[in-house]
Amino acid sequence: MDEATLRQTIVALCLEMNRSGLNQGTSGNISARCGARMLLTPSATPYDRMTPEMIAALPLDGDGTVWEGPLKPSTEWRFHRDILRSRPDAHAVVHAHPTFATTLAIARRAIPACHYMVAAFGGHDVRCSGYALYGTEALSREALAALDGRTACLLANHGIIAIGDSLEKAMWRAVELEALAKQYYYSLQLEGGPVILSRAEIDEVLEGFASYGLRTEVRPSPRTGRGAARGRARQSP
Ligand code: 13P
Ligand code: ZN
Repeated sequence: MDEATLRQTIVALCLEMNRSGLNQGTSGNISARCGARMLLTPSATPYDRMTPEMIAALPLDGDGTVWEGPLKPSTEWRFHRDILRSRPDAHAVVHAHPTFATTLAIARRAIPACHYMVAAFGGHDVRCSGYALYGTEALSREALAALDGRTACLLANHGIIAIGDSLEKAMWRAVELEALAKQYYYSLQLEGGPVILSRAEIDEVLEGFASYGLRTEVRPSPRTGRGAARGRARQSP
């Protein structure tokens, strides 16, 4: 994606994030790798008033004091920068405060293997980080540790982070994480609580998930020779 498309996609995903109820108000922020820079949403800016030109551009080797753009970048520039710097697999980072995932994060509960979809986040659980003040280097350290070997985490008493090799993939994970959090939360209300899948059961899923996830390219269908979902993102299987 070129820079103009990345900027447009960030704005579109911000709007979608609030429209779908995944996030509310001006909380949350989104970044995308763009060469040696990151494109990052501006701080405290209502998404319905955000335009592609308002997205800030910051050097990935910078200290947050230098940016291009008319508005101050997100207060969470540190964890966006540090994730994009230290995780070559990450090309986009989505941060939000979705209700169910944040409820678990408030209780400082990781999400165990209560559903096979936990493997969509790279391992046997989704960790909950330790607490640190928003916008701090300490929060960035906590986030990186919770994300080790994973593509999403909960942030204690705060929200979630999901990463991906594209903006769409990072957003897909954010949405899936909130769905998983909701399912886990409800299962905790039942007498007896959830049954947790074993390591071997999740290992089996992880093997298959090496090639699973949101598909944005379309392969020709063997029967018709035509794309089955041309131009539209679809999820598999
Ligand atoms: P910004 O508006 O500065 O991006 O902050 C929102 C947020 O979620 C802080 O954690
Ligand atoms: Zn936040």
